[in-house]
Amino acid sequence: MRNRNKKTKITIFFSIIIVVVLASFIAFSNTFERIAPNISLDNNQEDTIYWNARDKINLKVEDNLGLKNLKVEFSKDNEETKNILINKTLNGKEFNVELDLPKPKFNEKLDKYTIYIKANDKSLWNWFGGNVSEKIINVIVDNKKPQVSVIANSYNITQGGAASVVFYAQDDNLTDLYIEVNNRIFKVVPFMKDDYYIALIAWDLRDGDEFEARIVAKDKANNIIKERIPYYYSNKKYKVSHIEVGDAFIDGKIRDLYEANSDNSLSDRALIFDFVNAKLRQENEKLIHKVTQVVSNELVTDFKLNAFLPLKNGMKVADFGDHRYYKYNGNQISESYHMGLDLASTKMAPIVLGNDGKIVFAQDNGIYGLNLIIDHGLGLYTLYGHCTKKNVEIGDIVNAKSTIANTGTSGLALGDHLHFGVLVQGVEVRPEEWMDTKWLNDNIFGIIKKAKEVINKK
Ligand SMILES: [Zn+2]
Repeated sequence: MRNRNKKTKITIFFSIIIVVVLASFIAFSNTFERIAPNISLDNNQEDTIYWNARDKINLKVEDNLGLKNLKVEFSKDNEETKNILINKTLNGKEFNVELDLPKPKFNEKLDKYTIYIKANDKSLWNWFGGNVSEKIINVIVDNKKPQVSVIANSYNITQGGAASVVFYAQDDNLTDLYIEVNNRIFKVVPFMKDDYYIALIAWDLRDGDEFEARIVAKDKANNIIKERIPYYYSNKKYKVSHIEVGDAFIDGKIRDLYEANSDNSLSDRALIFDFVNAKLRQENEKLIHKVTQVVSNELVTDFKLNAFLPLKNGMKVADFGDHRYYKYNGNQISESYHMGLDLASTKMAPIVLGNDGKIVFAQDNGIYGLNLIIDHGLGLYTLYGHCTKKNVEIGDIVNAKSTIANTGTSGLALGDHLHFGVLVQGVEVRPEEWMDTKWLNDNIFGIIKKAKEVINKK
């Protein structure tokens, strides 16, 4: 009795050990791992994809242990019949293949395919059947390009200047819509009714003599249309000047700006000058571009401005677009573009706004000194540099006729003056255009009026 009892105990003891060892083997060995293969189409995990009936659809199946079988079937629209596309044994951890779905025949009305994918791995889990992944994916067939047509646009654009456009764009699956100007992207704003858009665009004078503007529309199935906006374009020569800088100039304003904005490791006057004129300028302008690239995508029904008059009785002291080369002791040491219009009147003259807007920047900005930037909507901004005394703060909504600040000499300014800049989506443009009522009527408001007439008839 005793003996038998002992024997039973021993048997139970060893059985437990065997079960534990087996269980641990199954639990910790790769052979019985329980992670199912991963299936993705065109590198995404979505259940619905869009197909233009031209591009390849890439199927990727992965498994951490190793793949065994793959079966892919498809059916058309809501038909029951499943057709086999792939049925094969696999090896390795990853398998990539292009799915060769039949293209819709001419005049065939085909809205979608359903794809059934089943893959299993080499694991012995699941009674040696392996881990199975199944995925059903809807492939929406969309081979229609977005429709785009220009409703109205400025007749002409000048190098360094701006222009407007109103257009129609429609697609059921639209994903991207923008204007490409010399490889730069301009955002568009919904205008008046569904599927109509407006934009101000700019030709950066530093882009050179060639100009091209195209509306780009793309849908979920990667159908793309690029519609040229038929602007006539005129080149404009900007002034090139060669300026000799002396020690007194470098040791004054330049050194002050250098010391306030650097680690003070340079001692060479030429390098100090270039640091302020090129590197610091670039940093300051980068900040300006960032602030002025913002465009609200809220629906716009109108856009109206007065011609800007940034400084009453202001005399022009420097032009927009001047390309300046600097020499020191006979050697060229630096160059820069002057991206605004300099106007001077009396010292600390009031800067009275010409148009309503919102203050989006009001702080010291290196060579621009005390720098104010105002948002007028549609991606249009005005900039005021070298100010002395500001009456506004960031976020303030200001009305035309408010005195926002006074002129001064802050930043890189020798005499008291206002540096007035105009920017369209982060690109500096010719301020003169926005100070000219006729130009505004011909190129902006007239275009909007014409477009409204066309859209209202639809
Ligand atoms: Zn200036």
